[in-house]
Amino acid sequence: YAAKRGRRGYEVWAPDGTPATRDRLQTLEQLRSALDGEELVNHYQPQLDLRTGSVAGVEALVRWDHPDRGLLYPDVFLPLAEQAGLMRRLALRVLERSLRDLHTWRTQGHDLSVAVNLSVSNLQDVALPEQVEMLLDTCSVPASSLVLEITEDVLMADAARSQQVMAGLRRLGVRLSVDDYGTGYSSLSYLRALPVDELKLDRSFVTHLTSDPRAAAIVRSTLQLSRDLGMSMVVEGVEDADALGALCEWGCDVAQGYHISRPMPAERVLGWLNARPLPAAAPRRD
Ligand code: C2E
Ligand code: MG
Ligand code: MG
Ligand code: MG
Repeated sequence: YAAKRGRRGYEVWAPDGTPATRDRLQTLEQLRSALDGEELVNHYQPQLDLRTGSVAGVEALVRWDHPDRGLLYPDVFLPLAEQAGLMRRLALRVLERSLRDLHTWRTQGHDLSVAVNLSVSNLQDVALPEQVEMLLDTCSVPASSLVLEITEDVLMADAARSQQVMAGLRRLGVRLSVDDYGTGYSSLSYLRALPVDELKLDRSFVTHLTSDPRAAAIVRSTLQLSRDLGMSMVVEGVEDADALGALCEWGCDVAQGYHISRPMPAERVLGWLNARPLPAAAPRRD
């Protein structure tokens, strides 16, 4: 089976090229029970603070550890969850796991934050702030250690409603980040209006950083823009030492990418953190 990008996002297709309706229904049933059981897992990818060389936090990335099909990535099952109205449950589940894991790491002496992705429909859910508040409370995590990542598309739905939800989250002290910044429908106009703390530049700009002067110019000017707006900038998709070196030189705040670490299962995070040398004044550039 393959996941192909269709008009309404990704769809699961049978090997002969026809939409696999029965398979979809079966997958949906399995997804529902995965949401109750242990098959949906969080992987975490570290984010490096380039000013200090220390680990600033991790981003939670959901995976489905499917009994027959192996580890499935979000692009394959999130569209299905969205269509089936399961995104609220999924988000709360990922959030709860993230906050529990974060609590464990913090009690082990790692002063980290965790970033959790939200979907467009999550931002339409006026009950979300209250649920987030409850989870922070039960997991004993300070709100300032939680970053919620939203994409620019949230404003293409009901902008007034998503702004209300964002304001509610922000009132808790949670930080908001614009994910995949620069690829959305309206990149600039909402920066005036929306209460966001961080821009997370899309990895397409970063991948070509060292080979394409235009990509480099976009990275540098977005960095300047984020500073002028009083926001921090996270760069994702850092795949090699050259890109990391350039980003350090330009004064980028936080970087994430395969060169630093691939996403890993929760149980590997502590080992990864403890195996790191103590941060020097600046990160190594080898
Ligand atoms: P994203 O939030 O922009 O996450 C970054 C994606 O880029 C992740 O893919 C990550 O594994 C991948 N990545 C990280 N570093 C590199 C790199 O150096 N090079 C390259 N080529 N890729 C890199 P993943 O885990 O497959 O997630 C895909 C998307 O699914 C995420 O994009 C996010 O939009 C969504 N997603 C993941 N987990 C959740 C979730 O719990 N809830 C919601 N609503 N969406 C989620
Ligand atoms: Mg993200
Ligand atoms: Mg992204
Ligand atoms: Mg993305």
